[in-house]
Amino acid sequence: MNQENLAHCPLCQASELLDVLVATDYTTTQETFQVQKCASCQFVFTNPRPPVNAIGKYYQSDSYISHTDGGKGILDRVYLMARNFTLRWKEELISERHIKGELLDVGCGTGEFIYHMKTAGWNVTGVEPTETAREKASQKIQQKIYTDLQSINQTFDVITMWHVLEHVHELHETVEKIKSVLKENGTIIIAVPNHESPDAKEYQSHWAAYDVPRHLWHFSKTTMQNLMNTHGMKIKEVIPMKLDAYYVSLLSEKYRNPQQSSLMNMMKATLQGLTSNRKALKEINHSSLIYIIKK
Ligand SMILES: [Zn+2]
Repeated sequence: MNQENLAHCPLCQASELLDVLVATDYTTTQETFQVQKCASCQFVFTNPRPPVNAIGKYYQSDSYISHTDGGKGILDRVYLMARNFTLRWKEELISERHIKGELLDVGCGTGEFIYHMKTAGWNVTGVEPTETAREKASQKIQQKIYTDLQSINQTFDVITMWHVLEHVHELHETVEKIKSVLKENGTIIIAVPNHESPDAKEYQSHWAAYDVPRHLWHFSKTTMQNLMNTHGMKIKEVIPMKLDAYYVSLLSEKYRNPQQSSLMNMMKATLQGLTSNRKALKEINHSSLIYIIKK
């Protein structure tokens, strides 16, 4: 296996790294990966990991191909309802904080979000490294989609990264680049899983949001704060993504107990989702968190 090993913490450069758990790539290869933690700043990351030129094969799975709008089964309908609800919710979250302007979505996938925002009156720009997704997005919004962030040279009012930063090998370069294309009073919105959430603690190595080796970094509020401080930026707000507790618990149930029936998975996941969101409420420590970031 072609792997690269980080000898130092990417956040604070300390060299004492502790083993946390071993997680499995349940969706694609069934290979296992070590998750480590920096003894000094507590940053958690997958280490060793496939290098950037070898990560492609870990994305060759049906679960990474977006659902189509033509689904007629009950699960397809539930999925589409949840997706449309989430799109409107994200739009509101942004429009409550900004008048319409230039929006950049990094890792736009097949373009559902930018299409929604374009329809709502924003000028949108998308970046997507995966060719098939990029072509779909481009067709959908009738605009060019960029292959990588480095080719962007205009500035934006709002930059979004919905569950993207945890996938990016070049962590510091990416944060520095989005900062450089952000307008002075613009906002960066980063959504990532939270490995300190109650559902992460419940499922441990079966927690679906470890999603190794695609998720290279496993953030908490503290380590996200450290990362932003390193780049001279501040977290202004932390907003929970409550639906993620249900979705992540559903997958985690399946990973923890593959023999369990779908109905039992769904019942247990619903209960775990409720419990997780309730426990997370006081500290805002939910399954996934949205960080509202300013320069
Ligand atoms: Zn560290």
